[in-house]
Amino acid sequence: MTAPPQAIVRTVRGDIDPAELGPTDAHEHLFLETPLQPGDTFQDVDRAIAEAATVVAAGARGLVDWTPLGLGRRADGLVAVSEATGLHIVAATGLHRDAHYPPDSWARSASVALLAQRFAGELTQGMDTTQARAGVIKVGAGYHAVSLLEATAFEAAAAAHAATGAPVCVHTQHGTMGERLVERLRGLGVAPAAVILAHLDRNPDAGEHAAIAETGAWLQYDGPGRTKYWPDSTILALIADVAARGHGGRLLVGGDVGRASMMRAYGGGPGMDYVFARFRPRLARELGDDLASAIFEDNPARAFAFVPTDDEGRTA
Ligand SMILES: [Zn+2]
Repeated sequence: MTAPPQAIVRTVRGDIDPAELGPTDAHEHLFLETPLQPGDTFQDVDRAIAEAATVVAAGARGLVDWTPLGLGRRADGLVAVSEATGLHIVAATGLHRDAHYPPDSWARSASVALLAQRFAGELTQGMDTTQARAGVIKVGAGYHAVSLLEATAFEAAAAAHAATGAPVCVHTQHGTMGERLVERLRGLGVAPAAVILAHLDRNPDAGEHAAIAETGAWLQYDGPGRTKYWPDSTILALIADVAARGHGGRLLVGGDVGRASMMRAYGGGPGMDYVFARFRPRLARELGDDLASAIFEDNPARAFAFVPTDDEGRTA
């Protein structure tokens, strides 16, 4: 008799019991390079370690890196940061939204089958030339629109999800189309409970978010500290409203510090520790410890966990 299949969180240094993940920043970027952000590239391992160390000092034990293929992800760097800081780091395979890829990008000529094979390979064999495996599949959509490349990536992500069980992490542009993207993935065979929608707080509409949560998908807010767009009080009010509608168990929060100019290690701010050093304590103070624990500990342990469906891919 074989033991029942066990849910795991797949980190760059191996699979862990979801209960070990601990307080988690659900959306960051430790390395990134994109033509959309000229001059705001970050690729330095030592600075990534320094920045990540501040996140650990602020109380985080897990971090999900959302940099996918073609954007300077650095699998070796993610492993180095995890080793140096002890953070459980989950990496992403998949693709970002269309605008991040130049007209001549290899991704534009890749078939669904080729992309699916590439994504699944990164989840089961390792990323680039390392043995570090990705733990989530990223896809992206545009502002109220899905391009050909994005549609192809959604199909490939669904196939890679079927082959591996890994969650599908979706970039929404300004928080648009949440429910439609969940339905698109459902149509491709991905259950909503395996779908995490990022950036929904760019459209802080609690009623719309409650409708998305009704499907079983995860709602991720990652705008704390973006003071030039809105105050943190907007996000706290949104969280309070969504929780009052019964969906506190579907919320995730990350910092999405996706620019060198947002990291102190590169001379910027507010720093990658903003979510844990500033936002979480305020959330606990204003909305209660229970909701804070749900959002930063219980929910990530469920959202990023999966039962591997590949036979070969398990670590001992
Ligand atoms: Zn991001």
